[in-house]
Amino acid sequence: LVSKTHLEHQTQIKINEQTTVGGQELLIIGGPCTVESLEQMEQVAQQLTKAPVQLLRGGVYKPRTSPYSFQGLGLEGLKILKGVSQRYNVPVVTEVMSIPQIESVVAYADVLQIGSRNMQNFELLKAIGQAGKPVILKRGLAATLEEFIMAAEYIMAHGNPDVILCERGIRSFDSFTRNVLDLGAVVGLKQLTHLPIIVDPSHAAGKRELVEPLARAAVACGADGIMVECHPEPEKSVSDARQALSLKDMVQLVENLRPVAASV
Ligand code: PEP
Ligand code: MN
Repeated sequence: LVSKTHLEHQTQIKINEQTTVGGQELLIIGGPCTVESLEQMEQVAQQLTKAPVQLLRGGVYKPRTSPYSFQGLGLEGLKILKGVSQRYNVPVVTEVMSIPQIESVVAYADVLQIGSRNMQNFELLKAIGQAGKPVILKRGLAATLEEFIMAAEYIMAHGNPDVILCERGIRSFDSFTRNVLDLGAVVGLKQLTHLPIIVDPSHAAGKRELVEPLARAAVACGADGIMVECHPEPEKSVSDARQALSLKDMVQLVENLRPVAASV
């Protein structure tokens, strides 16, 4: 179902009336790693929708390495996302980590995210197949393209055709960057599949000063969109502070990507 041999055309996925991914227009997703408060998300929505960022992100169920780290606002965070989505007329995406969370995330968000750590959680993938909303599937921390494609196949085989692949960097030996952004995978997936592919330079880079050049490179090599973490006060982010852009820098990034997108 995922393979180009099954379907020749490039799949376009409709997110709402205004926004589609996989076509001519570059999809820009922005927002904090974690939803922290209503005030934070109001500032994010107010600044970013002007850029425009077409889809806002923010985690409310967070896959944290330590069980003692903040785990997310849960339902309260979903309500904050829904509120800004309605007030600013912008769709929102958030991660779903387990089958019991699906129902409420579907009720409050426009797009569901499967995080890297759950890319091969096959029972979750099967359940997401029945969710009835578009899904951003993030590549596993050390997943081959074959494994990544098969994870998307699970979701599609269980009834959901609207899968957006997301390259977010893979594990390697050098700790200079948090992960290694695999742009070869972006090109390869474009050749192997008909699904839209977006790039998350933030989790690949791990450092804010690397985010814009990687985002530009991703767009130049044919990515259908990018997802970038940003925050009203980046250094105060409760998670992934080191890679968060300021809202001003995020708006500038959107501006700077326009000529790159036009040239591909
Ligand atoms: C995220 O995008 O919020 C996230 C946790 O990323 P990843 O699953 O790629 O680590
Ligand atoms: Mn993050």
